[in-house]
Amino acid sequence: MSAPALAAHDLYKFYRAADEETRALRGVSLTVDGGELVAVTGPSGSGKSTLLACLAGLEEPTGGDVLLHGRRISHRAETDRARLRARHVGMLWQSSNLVAHLSVRDNVRLVQTLGPGEPRPVEALLESLGIDHRATALPHELSGGEAARAGLAVALASSPSILLADEPTGELDSDSEALVLHLLRELARSGSAVVVVSHSPSVAAIADRVVPLADGRVAA
Ligand code: ADP
Ligand code: MG
Repeated sequence: MSAPALAAHDLYKFYRAADEETRALRGVSLTVDGGELVAVTGPSGSGKSTLLACLAGLEEPTGGDVLLHGRRISHRAETDRARLRARHVGMLWQSSNLVAHLSVRDNVRLVQTLGPGEPRPVEALLESLGIDHRATALPHELSGGEAARAGLAVALASSPSILLADEPTGELDSDSEALVLHLLRELARSGSAVVVVSHSPSVAAIADRVVPLADGRVAA
């Protein structure tokens, strides 16, 4: 039996500042297999972004573990976390994941040099996203919809076995949203584990499973 693509066990995350303590996650467990698309929903402040950051190894959980393909990414040195992340995880955040001084094409190539996955041919990838004509543009020269597609190109560049997306369609027109959702669905169909944080009913509609968060816990 092979390990699930993504497994989080009893995650806790507390932020402490002076005498304030915020309990962002309070015992969240989540398992996502390859081929599954899971939507994480919940009101603002319920812990969705904190959960994704812990899953990506960008934040250390205060308690609990995160395993990627059976390998622990939590509670390890930053270099080990970065290596595992580069090997397995594509990230799509609402704020741009593009490097400002690199063209769209070079942003995609950069990710491909970092990740060990099968690099996808850059031009074909950009074409499938309808932004091949913007390959040499810099991020600030892109429209909102184009930037979202370029961000998706970067997230998909190394054919990640795990894709984590934080409100990826939050600022998109409905055409771009439909395209992004189609591509996330396709990625899951090809065997990747996909976790999408979103308020959008259209994301929940295409998900295999919806995980509702409330106040740092999975709501019943
Ligand atoms: P969501 O993405 O569901 O809106 P977040 O995960 O961003 O929620 O935040 C969950 C809670 O943790 C909120 O109360 C937020 O204010 C707090 N929080 C998030 N990040 C930090 C941080 N870096 N420092 C302190 N508190 C934080
Ligand atoms: Mg958030």
